[in-house]
Amino acid sequence: MIIVMKMGASQGEIQKVVQRVESLGFRTHLSQGEERTIIGIIGDERPLDRDSLGRMRGVERIVPILRPFKLASRDFQPADTVFQLNGHSIGGQKIIVMAGPCAVESREQIIETAHMVKEAGAHLLRGGAFKPRTSPYSFQGLGEEGLRYLAEAREATGLAVITEVMAPEQVSLVAQYADVLQIGTRNMQNYALLHAVGESGMPVLLKRGMMSTIEELLMSAEYILSHGNRRIMLCERGIRTFETYTRNTLDINAVPSLKELTHLPIVVDPSHATGKWHLVSAVSKAAVAAGADGLIIEVHPNPELAMSDGAQSLRPPRFAELMAQLRPIAQAVGRTL
Ligand code: PEP
Ligand code: MN
Repeated sequence: MIIVMKMGASQGEIQKVVQRVESLGFRTHLSQGEERTIIGIIGDERPLDRDSLGRMRGVERIVPILRPFKLASRDFQPADTVFQLNGHSIGGQKIIVMAGPCAVESREQIIETAHMVKEAGAHLLRGGAFKPRTSPYSFQGLGEEGLRYLAEAREATGLAVITEVMAPEQVSLVAQYADVLQIGTRNMQNYALLHAVGESGMPVLLKRGMMSTIEELLMSAEYILSHGNRRIMLCERGIRTFETYTRNTLDINAVPSLKELTHLPIVVDPSHATGKWHLVSAVSKAAVAAGADGLIIEVHPNPELAMSDGAQSLRPPRFAELMAQLRPIAQAVGRTL
């Protein structure tokens, strides 16, 4: 449940309520809005005496939260989560674009791509060093060597780096090189991994499981939040449907639905959602128009030679063209790019 404080409640009154709740063995989550403060109560709250809390000074009302996710919900925190990353506000007015190859293939490939996507206006560099491939015979990524090349590309361009982490025991290694930890669709419900990235305190991009509901995505975010890590972006990357023409089906509904349900920033991945480079531009535009806070797009200098996901990768000039086309769409929905 949440305790909504009166407009103008004093810091002293807020602190007294927090102390009372914590003395009863609960944790609290404070959301200080411009007008009011909301105190979220974390834990099994059934034994709490709501009437006596409701009589404390400064308390306006006590509201039960019926949804299974709490910290992720807008009831707990009405204002959007905005956090800083390498000079960019994530979740703010600006739409953040992360671009780069599916996988880091060589030092030259990632550094060349980094320069090209930066030139086109990307804000972060993506690239997988540990690749979760459906087949064990496919390219599995360069591992730590790939992480070193990503760090070199950051050094060369100033772009922050996002890369995937697949296992809890990899988190500390990946965190040494990356600015954002990506959790892939196949690991959305890997609870040991969610725990580990929660503890790491690093910014996280949590991708929706390809067969998971919006509510399950939010419950996974709740795991990370409940370990004290609030810097999370959620990513819609397409889900499995009966349609086979595209690799997945972008659930565009997820964007405004998530905006209603949660304060966390929402990113769309048009590359994995479509699996086809020629559909990526249209779907990116739809995502921005629908209210996405960011995009993550695969870009490769030679898609025909790519070791993974070449069919859905944009060539750098196409990506630059897309960035230019996105600007007026962002502006039409009150955003910048
Ligand atoms: C990726 O971003 O390259 C990737 C593997 O994505 P997903 O987990 O969405 O399939
Ligand atoms: Mn990929």
